[in-house]
Amino acid sequence: NRYITIKNHIDAAPQHSDFELRSSSLSLSLDPASDEVIVKNLYVSIDPYQLNRMKSYSSSQKSSEFAVAITPGEDIDAYGVGKVVASGNPKFDKGDIVAGLLKWGEFTVVKPGGMLNKLDPMGFPLSYHVGILGFSGLTAYAGFFEICKPKKGEKVFVSAALGSVGNLVGQFAKVLGCYVVGCAGSKEKVALLKEKLGFDDAFNYRDEPDLESTLQRYFPEGIDIYFDNVGGDMQEAAVSNMNINGRIAVCGVISEYTDREKRAAPSMIDVIYKRIKIQGFLAGDYLNLFGDFLSTTCDHLRTEKIQPLEDISDGVESIPSALINLFRGQNIGKKIVRITEE
Ligand code: NDP
Repeated sequence: NRYITIKNHIDAAPQHSDFELRSSSLSLSLDPASDEVIVKNLYVSIDPYQLNRMKSYSSSQKSSEFAVAITPGEDIDAYGVGKVVASGNPKFDKGDIVAGLLKWGEFTVVKPGGMLNKLDPMGFPLSYHVGILGFSGLTAYAGFFEICKPKKGEKVFVSAALGSVGNLVGQFAKVLGCYVVGCAGSKEKVALLKEKLGFDDAFNYRDEPDLESTLQRYFPEGIDIYFDNVGGDMQEAAVSNMNINGRIAVCGVISEYTDREKRAAPSMIDVIYKRIKIQGFLAGDYLNLFGDFLSTTCDHLRTEKIQPLEDISDGVESIPSALINLFRGQNIGKKIVRITEE
């Protein structure tokens, strides 16, 4: 069983030298009384928060129950889809397609109580269930509908807009009838946002030296909703362009994951005068919405109101690059690694 681990804690932008491909022997026969399940991993999710789990957490920042710290040398868990190859658990049979907490490797031994469910692909590719129909999708859905409470016609700004969560937030907002502007890190991404995903407008934040006036230009009547995936300077600029009773969903602060100096310092006087609601959230708290989210998103996919956007690389050895590239903006949509062919 080949798997990826970290050689050391990572407190800056991740590099190839931080990772290692290891192998261990794994017997595919199980004691029937073990209650364990062995899953052949097919697709695994690559997510920015994994980097936060790799930090040393020496002083102020702590590992949390939501992002359990990874010890160098250990295998690394991640959401994924796989196929059962051996089962001592009566709920699963050999051959079942499952989704749950797997490993960044070729196989996962799921212990009793581990997060694992049978998966009905509902006619969609299995990879969709890692991204658009999995946790990234739920994050976009819960964050946009529950936290932002959008109304038709409102003006919505999304950062990291061509990323896994961001592109869906923008697409949900368009289906609802909002005016949507996204920002992303290249002109190719900007073109995709406007031409493929139907955003009303988009800009490359790397070309904009003064983000506050950039947002004024794109939102002359102000922003009602900001879906924040990046934190840092963009969050400050967004706060100063928000309308009265605006809402900000703080989904992620990726600009701070590799650079702790980058923390946002939004103007609190704006927050007060404009009665802005700023709320952080964790998708895992909204599992109760999973059914609604899934049926809405499947309908939108079938009627082509929204487009899936996936960025798939192949093989367990491609996992480090996949993660590294998230912090270089080199993914287009949901980053997934296909461990092996179905
Ligand atoms: P993405 O697919 O959006 O990939 C990350 C993107 O972030 C990159 O493509 C890049 O795009 C952008 N980026 C990278 N570094 C920087 C930087 N320094 N400044 C600005 N942008 C940067 O990832 P996800 O959609 O999976 O995640 C988006 C955010 O949502 C992350 O912050 C993540 O941690 C958070 N998240 C939160 C969850 C929750 O429950 N709260 C659940 C899932 C994700 P570009 O070219 O535009 O720079």
